[in-house]
Amino acid sequence: MAITRRQFVTRLGALAAASGMAQADVSKLVEAFAFGTSGGKVNLGGTLGKPRVIWIHGAECTGCSTSVLGIFENTGGEAIVGSGVTTGAAAGLAGILPTELGGSDFTLHALGYNVESYSTAMNIADVVVDVIDLQYHETVMGMASDLAAQWLEDFRNYNPTLGGPNPGDAPFVLVVEGALQDHLGGGAWNDTSDTSVPWCSIGMSADGTIEHDMAETVVDLATKDTCLAIIPIGQCATFGGYPACKPPISTDVAGFDTSMSQTGAKGTYDYLVGKGHTAAANKVINVPGCPTNPWWFTLTVVMFLVDLVNGPLKPTPVDGPLGVLKADGSINATAVDGDRRLKAVYGTPIHGPYCPRYRDYVKGIFASKPGEAGCLQKIGCKGPATNSLCGVHGWNNQQPQNPATWDYGVPGVNLAPNGTTRTGGHCTTAGHPCMACTEKGYPDSFVPFIARS
Ligand code: SF4
Ligand code: SF4
Repeated sequence: MAITRRQFVTRLGALAAASGMAQADVSKLVEAFAFGTSGGKVNLGGTLGKPRVIWIHGAECTGCSTSVLGIFENTGGEAIVGSGVTTGAAAGLAGILPTELGGSDFTLHALGYNVESYSTAMNIADVVVDVIDLQYHETVMGMASDLAAQWLEDFRNYNPTLGGPNPGDAPFVLVVEGALQDHLGGGAWNDTSDTSVPWCSIGMSADGTIEHDMAETVVDLATKDTCLAIIPIGQCATFGGYPACKPPISTDVAGFDTSMSQTGAKGTYDYLVGKGHTAAANKVINVPGCPTNPWWFTLTVVMFLVDLVNGPLKPTPVDGPLGVLKADGSINATAVDGDRRLKAVYGTPIHGPYCPRYRDYVKGIFASKPGEAGCLQKIGCKGPATNSLCGVHGWNNQQPQNPATWDYGVPGVNLAPNGTTRTGGHCTTAGHPCMACTEKGYPDSFVPFIARS
């Protein structure tokens, strides 16, 4: 799928406003994205002054990259139900309407018409190039093979004699996708001989002289002074996810210690703390999900950049206006929850008015199998233990404001039994219990996903 540059920028403003930014703060989006090398713009060191991003893949399925690459937005109507903020209004608040928007197709969007202008559509990869300087990302970068291995080697272990990309030149943001496996940790086999435990290698040069162990690479990058923030994306990178699952059988049957994960996989924060890198761990802002919704990631990055540019990077550093960063660049403890997720992004419970089945829960109407009408709590819904924006803005363009007949040609799929339009399309909208994919401990702590009632 594709999203136009206009839609992308508009949605940023809408999400920012709906997440609680005051009008004056939303306007700071403009400053945050006015990267450059002159005219008073903030130079973050990458191409055209944009922030450099290094995106490392580990033990995962690339589902989160795929999710981000599939970002899509219908800009008609209210940006987030209940916020009172239309996408057009948010664009105006952000001060981007006069310069970034203003074409005839936008006028139609602002009026609530679902009109896509595919002649101006671009892939999210193009948009990312405009907003950040994505220097290394194994799925979308142009480098490959020995060149990529050498580039990463140079960045990890910069040698001024040899040259290459110097991480000390400018700050960068480290995005981690995938769990970190400690191949010397023994895993379930308790074997520290480095022979039997699976572990993730990013790559190796053809002559074998360079090899990048994923976990060691993340540690090297995370501990550099120029690493501004570490943003683990997805359940695997944040909390370990599926690679950290423990076998559901006894130690006797398995023949190894099943109280441990087979691979020794951990989320980024826990891994860094476990290795004694507490200062680096304190730069972590988690964006969990399985996969992560692209807008949760986008909103987290935007809030970080807004605060960075309007706070610690000011000539006289001040606290960030959104309360995410303190003047010294550290993360404000009040902005994140106990699992290091931004409260603005992960502060909304799935179980509540945003669930399309909450009215059934209140009335005591329960489904006995997936897909049936009624609250899904008696067949295992984990909504009461889960926080995310799922019910607020939905997935895959199933926005609350969408016409009920517009969902992939299946008339009525977005209709509640009483004829009203459901809120954001997500698991419970589709008739499946929430599985708590944004919570620490998923999946082991939340199985069975579906229970017999
Ligand atoms: S379906 Fe789940 S989240 Fe929705 S009301 Fe029932 S228990 Fe709560
Ligand atoms: S409804 Fe629950 S399991 Fe489904 S995507 Fe949202 S947080 Fe994850």
